[in-house]
Amino acid sequence: ADRPGRQLVSVVVPVFNEEDNVGPLHQRLRKVEASLEGAAMEIIFVDDGSRDGTYERLRALRRDDDQVRIVKLSRNFGHQAAVTAGVDSAAGDAVVLIDADLQDPPELIVEMVRKWREGYDVVFAVRARREGESPFKLWTASLFYRLIRRITQVEIPLDTGDFRLMSRRLVDDLLRLGERHRFIRGLVAWLGYRQIGVEYVREQRLSGETKYPLRRMLKFAVDGITSFSFVPLQLATWLGFLAASSAFVGVGVVLYYRLFTDIPLPGWASVMISLLFLGGVQLMTLGLIGEYIGRIYDEVKARPLYIVEEKHGFVNTRASG
Ligand code: UDP
Ligand code: MG
Repeated sequence: ADRPGRQLVSVVVPVFNEEDNVGPLHQRLRKVEASLEGAAMEIIFVDDGSRDGTYERLRALRRDDDQVRIVKLSRNFGHQAAVTAGVDSAAGDAVVLIDADLQDPPELIVEMVRKWREGYDVVFAVRARREGESPFKLWTASLFYRLIRRITQVEIPLDTGDFRLMSRRLVDDLLRLGERHRFIRGLVAWLGYRQIGVEYVREQRLSGETKYPLRRMLKFAVDGITSFSFVPLQLATWLGFLAASSAFVGVGVVLYYRLFTDIPLPGWASVMISLLFLGGVQLMTLGLIGEYIGRIYDEVKARPLYIVEEKHGFVNTRASG
């Protein structure tokens, strides 16, 4: 922020099949720029393998506005990888992450920049209310944020998405965290510095539909939890204690019946139940271990997070990775 002259704010927008949203978003961002005194704005659209007309729309935007930059990925790599690609290419003194569907109101950036100038390194947007989302999504989202807060050490702020502003020094540190299964809001919380929230009302999607169906939401949730917590692995220990202590109780019961009563103990049901229970517990904990091993495997392979097919509007183009 102490560079002489005007400050530069980079706005990073991951886009995946958002052809009707990029135009309106661009317009609103330009209006926002006008009210950022003393700061210019570059807008980095990361085309995450869109299959509709998004890319052509972006090229058209760039023809009229040379502060629009495009990173075209070679296929769909997913939201978090797309955001990372944008942040990697951003030159700004501050970097703003925003969704393309106008669920995140661009006007909030003015407030974010104000807080950043006061000296905050992260200004994240807190959803005070959400418009037009299913009760199921609201409920699962709220459950997820509370669960992850319970079982991880990092203080991930409740009800925040990736909509946020980050200072240059924090972004430089963020880029050094090279993990594959990226849970960006968690990584940013982990980094520390001075962080603050500003509230907003999350709007309905302008056009198109969500790219996070239940399956992807679940994967995202598991990424978030496994990146920051060992608690699921320790579950096996606790279930083991539970099973062992119920075995002790069982021994007591069996001895009592054998020594002090004449009632014969029927075996089949209890044997089957404990067999199925233990089999279930063992497979479940194996599956949990598998989640971690799969992620370790991905980390070890150390493939780049994304592949860039084309870049437009960057002076010194960096390689993909
Ligand atoms: N997105 C992306 N790649 C993907 C999925 C989503 O770049 O594989 C973008 C999408 O275009 C949008 C943002 O990530 O700008 C958030 O996605 P979405 O609005 O579908 O998520 P939701 O708001 O429903 O959680
Ligand atoms: Mg959305």
